Amino acid sequence: MYETNFHKASTAQDAAALLAKSDDGKILAGGQTLIPTMKQRLAAPSDLIDLSQVSALRGITITKRKKMGIMKAEGGETITIGAMTTHSEVAGDAELVKVCPVICQLAGNIGDPAVRHRGTIGGSVANNDPAADYPAALLALGATIHTNAREIAAADYFKGMFATALTDDEIITAVSFQAPAVAGYGKFPNPASRYAMAGVFVAKSVEGDVRVAVTGAGDNGVYRHAGLEAALSADWSAASVEAVEVSADGLMSDLHGNAAYRANLIKVMTKRALA
Ligand SMILES: Cc1cc2nc3c(=O)[nH]c(=O)nc-3n(C[C@H](O)[C@H](O)[C@H](O)COP(=O)(O)OP(=O)(O)OC[C@H]3O[C@@H](n4cnc5c(N)ncnc54)[C@H](O)[C@@H]3O)c2cc1C
Repeated sequence: MYETNFHKASTAQDAAALLAKSDDGKILAGGQTLIPTMKQRLAAPSDLIDLSQVSALRGITITKRKKMGIMKAEGGETITIGAMTTHSEVAGDAELVKVCPVICQLAGNIGDPAVRHRGTIGGSVANNDPAADYPAALLALGATIHTNAREIAAADYFKGMFATALTDDEIITAVSFQAPAVAGYGKFPNPASRYAMAGVFVAKSVEGDVRVAVTGAGDNGVYRHAGLEAALSADWSAASVEAVEVSADGLMSDLHGNAAYRANLIKVMTKRALA
């Protein structure tokens, strides 16, 4: 046994102050990753700072795009999701599904019902598991990660496997992004864990920028695929993906599948995302 002090924060500022004061404190969100890690003695934080009572960190807001002249593309609404919003809340949001159905679909396929009802978007993005789904979505959507201290572009936030731009005392408060004109997500889940063995998020913004982000496959976590982006910028179709060489260099090989298998999965998942 080891001792852990438990705190219930009432605001994000309160949580940040408790975190700064602790020796080796950790934020507790849904606990789906942190609690098993503590049970296995892979983490032994001096303090747990629970965000579950911080209602300001929960919920989804959608700000409509200003109508300027004739709008040629769908999308453009600004979507903000509070850090403590659970995967099942994202999956089931009746307004969000109208403007960005792919994010609801993605959230609805995370793990199992227990994980979806407890796990949060803030916890997932803070953890940055190399096989998690949200990092691919946020990178492809050009999202912003909001913390108690600053705003971080997704492109600067994801720093490799389980590594992020967050400092030790920083708390994610929300993520925001513009609804894409068109987007899709293809995921090949590990049959045991439901984490992605390869997941590809494709997005075209209202301005026409194309981003393709890959999770589950890279040996340094989530990344953008330049070759797929170039092909889809020229021609947004499954046929254009066929001509792209997806190299196995830099991809993970583990007991679930080798790098060549994952390279093939990336291509197949990109086509599924487009479909
Ligand atoms: C069986 C199983 C299957 C899963 N399958 C999938 C899957 O298919 N796809 C997928 O993407 N994920 C999957 N997950 C992970 C799941 O999405 C978790 O919800 C997520 O990893 C962590 O979220 P949490 O809210 O539970 O965070 P916690 O476990 O509470 O915290 C995780 C880490 O993030 C930190 N943290 C939490 N919130 C914040 C914050 N607001 N600011 C700063 N730091 C914070 C914590 O200190 C901790 O270090 C699975 C998990 C399990 C157990």
